[in-house]
Amino acid sequence: LSDRLKGLDKNVWVEYTGLAAKHKAVNLGQGFPDFPPPAYVTKALAEATNGANHLLNQYTRGYGHPRLVNVMAEVFSKIHNRPIDPNNEILVTIGAYQSLFCAITGFINPGDEVIVIEPFFDCYEPMIRYAGGTPVFVPLHPPKTKTDGMTKSADWTLDMRELEDHFTSKTRMIILNTPNNPLGKVFTKKELDAIAEICVRKNILVVSDEVYEWLIFQPNEHIRIADLPGMWERTITVRSAGKTFSVTGWKLGWAIGPANLILNCRVMLQNVSYTSPTPIQEAVAVGFEIEKDRIGSKECYFQELPEMLVEKRDRMAEMLQKAGFIPILPEGGYFMLADYSKLKNMPELPKSDEAADSVFVKWMIAEKKLATIPVSAFYSQGHKHLAEEYIRFCFSKNDSTLDAADKILTDWM
Ligand code: PMP
Ligand code: GLN
Repeated sequence: LSDRLKGLDKNVWVEYTGLAAKHKAVNLGQGFPDFPPPAYVTKALAEATNGANHLLNQYTRGYGHPRLVNVMAEVFSKIHNRPIDPNNEILVTIGAYQSLFCAITGFINPGDEVIVIEPFFDCYEPMIRYAGGTPVFVPLHPPKTKTDGMTKSADWTLDMRELEDHFTSKTRMIILNTPNNPLGKVFTKKELDAIAEICVRKNILVVSDEVYEWLIFQPNEHIRIADLPGMWERTITVRSAGKTFSVTGWKLGWAIGPANLILNCRVMLQNVSYTSPTPIQEAVAVGFEIEKDRIGSKECYFQELPEMLVEKRDRMAEMLQKAGFIPILPEGGYFMLADYSKLKNMPELPKSDEAADSVFVKWMIAEKKLATIPVSAFYSQGHKHLAEEYIRFCFSKNDSTLDAADKILTDWM
């Protein structure tokens, strides 16, 4: 292994997705919907490969297929309430992963520090380390008095003084994620204003991972940090078609930001993959063309999806409570954390060097055939103990999948 990859060999998705498959478990682990995407996107994808324009099977423009960046510029100009240049302010990539990779490696030099708020989507850390940077972790704090009743992810808060204390002369960037994976916390305007104020004052770049931007449960509101005063010029916002149209396997993402920041991301992209699959981009373009005039209305898929998910969220919370877990109700996204430490039927778990939640999840997959993800995977090495009582459930699932999980939990308890 090259020196730069040493220590980055472990991957939670490889491990737990593999275990779920091996044990044929009901899979509430890796986050993906198991219900079908809107028919118009799958039809558009079939037509893109099979239709009259066979050239859609060939390479397209490197930084983003013209039809896609044009419609995205329209959609996101309205969302950000500013004109977005399709050719210079949008970069289409292979998944949100690659946008994150381009944004991090496009700016971070060896020795630079990057602030990451815990719990965090796991890939931020290896990407920063690969670039030679140092991640600096600042935790969200759970509510001080632990109750046996249900809490919500909004109760997990950032101590702004603590956050600011972690900035040094080497801090170059902060990575934000709202709604947060795995917690489901939707950062409030007050929190984002406070973060933005620090970033402007200290001249810090922001990578804002907003892949779950449409999955917001009423009455919460998604605030885009790029829209706050002084922030557009320092923010790269990362998004994903996988989450937007429930097509995670399509692996299409994009970064939006001012041309001078997108330029750095382009330099990486043009050398690692050059371009992203044309038919996928064509189909996502058709999806946005269909939705663009109904954004904000009831018929819009981006509105229907969270309405459907909130019911699944509530069902999941009820199911988990009934079984003796203490769930944390999320305000957005499609994950729910739950404290398993008070379960009545706790098994005798093997002694291990691993975090307790990992040992528990491995036991549950093998013995109960129910797969989830240990929350310590979303914490840095020194902080994994903060999460050892929690596991993550994905509730973006068909009722039949939730029924199967319910049965396992009911029979077990
Ligand atoms: N960021 C977050 C917070 C995620 O949960 C995910 C996983 N879907 C990604 C980025 C990566 O998205 P994609 O599958 O589009 O690469
Ligand atoms: N974002 C999804 C999750 O958090 C999938 C991640 C992945 O497959 N790498 O579960």
